[in-house]
Amino acid sequence: MRIKAAVLHAMGIERPYDQSQPLVIEEVELEKPGAGEILVKIHAAGLCHSDLSVIDGNRPRQVPMVLGHEAAGEIVELGSGVDQHSVGEHVVFSFVPVCGHCMPCMTARPALCENGVAANNKGSLLGGGMRLRDQQQRNIHHHMGVSGFAEYAVVSTKSVVRIDNTLDYNIAALFGCAVMTGVGAVINTAKLILGQTVLITGLGGVGFAALLGAIAGGASKIIVADVNQEKLKKALEFGAHEAIDSSKENALENIRDITHGGVDIGFEFAGVIPALEFTYNATARGGKTVTAGLPHPSKTMQLAPVKLVAEERTLQGSYIGSCIPARDIPAYIELYKSGRLPVEKLLTHILSLNEVNIGFERLAKGEAIRQVIRFN
Ligand SMILES: [Zn+2]
Ligand SMILES: [Zn+2]
Repeated sequence: MRIKAAVLHAMGIERPYDQSQPLVIEEVELEKPGAGEILVKIHAAGLCHSDLSVIDGNRPRQVPMVLGHEAAGEIVELGSGVDQHSVGEHVVFSFVPVCGHCMPCMTARPALCENGVAANNKGSLLGGGMRLRDQQQRNIHHHMGVSGFAEYAVVSTKSVVRIDNTLDYNIAALFGCAVMTGVGAVINTAKLILGQTVLITGLGGVGFAALLGAIAGGASKIIVADVNQEKLKKALEFGAHEAIDSSKENALENIRDITHGGVDIGFEFAGVIPALEFTYNATARGGKTVTAGLPHPSKTMQLAPVKLVAEERTLQGSYIGSCIPARDIPAYIELYKSGRLPVEKLLTHILSLNEVNIGFERLAKGEAIRQVIRFN
């Protein structure tokens, strides 16, 4: 079938994106779902910083590629052998397919699924195939097994989680990346204990979702740090207790004063080395630093190992919030429904597919939390 999609043909195109238009809205060919695959009509897709990192070249991927890895939609067709889903079901996509039989999958760490990550690096679906073609019949790569910036997507059944049909698609989409990554980092990776103190550095969609997670999880003091004043203000409205401008010289000292020596858990979501070093240094002796930021693969951080040892510190990475999507997405949705995880606060803009480049320029400028493309 012929569908409209946002295709990235080259990385590293100069800003402003509303002028340079790195994503081209074009008609592409989408093949029928193969064995173990489904055709999903996309209803909503969120603009995430990781998409931006592909556009600006910080997270190199195969091009051409249809971007978008945070989305929700409705199953409209089943491939052969699909018996655990049915047409009409609503689904949220998970951006690492869960093969279910590799060692990480079998040890309850599907975020590290070997087959899922290999397929994502190749830009294919979990089974190895590509279902997107351009007008010349050349392959177009899939983004994280999802490619949600399109009217329809063919995906592996291992890339979706079934959700309640009553949930608004605009909200549902956010659970696929921002909520899993942010809330999961707090609950699964850091294993926040009631009453612990927390620092969240980097207030994008994931940082704000982590803030919601820290509130829901019972952090006693939540400090947020960023260089963007508007976002700091917004975080206080969300329920953060202290907001710190991390560009200020006394920022670290301030955090140590507020917490009598440093926070129990520091989270870094900015994806830049100074933010990671800042967060690590703001964490208390015996504390934990969790990072979900994704700096360019060539970047390295300065770290004095003596502090890791003598102060029993932990520095830990978190991918998809160490989530088990089939377990955590429904649980987080239940928390949302009961008002304990007000995910709707993350949603700042609703766009059409044609406005995708305007949206990414807005995201690059730091003027949005989560923007969702709504398909009719
Ligand atoms: Zn994302
Ligand atoms: Zn696996």
